[in-house]
Amino acid sequence: MGEPVLVARGLSKEFRGFQAVSGVDLSVARGSIHALIGPNGAGKTTCFNLLTKFLAPSSGEIIYKGRDITRTKPADVARLGLVRSFQISAVFGRLTVLENVRIALQRRKRGDSFDFWRSERVLHALDGEALALLEEVGLAAYSAAPALSLSYGRKRALEIATTLALDPDMLLLDEPMAGMGREDVEQTASLIRHVSVGRTILMVEHNLSVVAELSDRITVLARGRILAEGDYATISKDPRVVEAYLGA
Ligand code: ADP
Repeated sequence: MGEPVLVARGLSKEFRGFQAVSGVDLSVARGSIHALIGPNGAGKTTCFNLLTKFLAPSSGEIIYKGRDITRTKPADVARLGLVRSFQISAVFGRLTVLENVRIALQRRKRGDSFDFWRSERVLHALDGEALALLEEVGLAAYSAAPALSLSYGRKRALEIATTLALDPDMLLLDEPMAGMGREDVEQTASLIRHVSVGRTILMVEHNLSVVAELSDRITVLARGRILAEGDYATISKDPRVVEAYLGA
């Protein structure tokens, strides 16, 4: 595995006296798929929101590619290549699949003048780039379909395509399998594996068979602290992990 690309040191978050995350030290290796798991209430979402800069830590620091981003805004972090999936939130249901990705590309390039981006010629130039992203996530055949007509799994693929439009080095995925049936889970797992090539991924995920299948490294949280860390074979045999899940 590569060198650490995202590092948290002593990351803590307190909500009115309640310690949701306590002194978390985390190191995500470049090119890895790293999962953050734990029973309900363990602090996964809080930790994820701290790492994606949606919450400010009470203490601790976050380093991305050697740079202190503890106080950097989410949009600026995205510009550094650290992108949270569903950051752009919604897929626009009435727009076509292609238009959704084109809008994400326009957002990335908005530094240029507005008039420039309204020109037909430029919009069509973006169509080529959007189509390439749709090919990457296996949605090229659906480019002209309204986004709302897609299956659940394909909508997730579209969300991933809009995230890739921001040209990330690292993706942070919040429960990518949430609410999915088995077929969509399999499709999404192979998509995550595909987009992980040349990128780093950190995901919070409840589906432990997906975590086992995809992850190079797993960090287990319980009561706001790191309980165990390692590959799936190691952590699944750890009595503290078994107990935390059974006791939850
Ligand atoms: P997980 O995602 O592992 O289920 P969370 O990070 O959502 O855990 O929550 C960890 C703990 O912090 C829970 O006990 C939760 O009630 C508490 N918590 C989370 N967000 C807030 C908040 N905004 N205000 C107060 N308590 C919170």
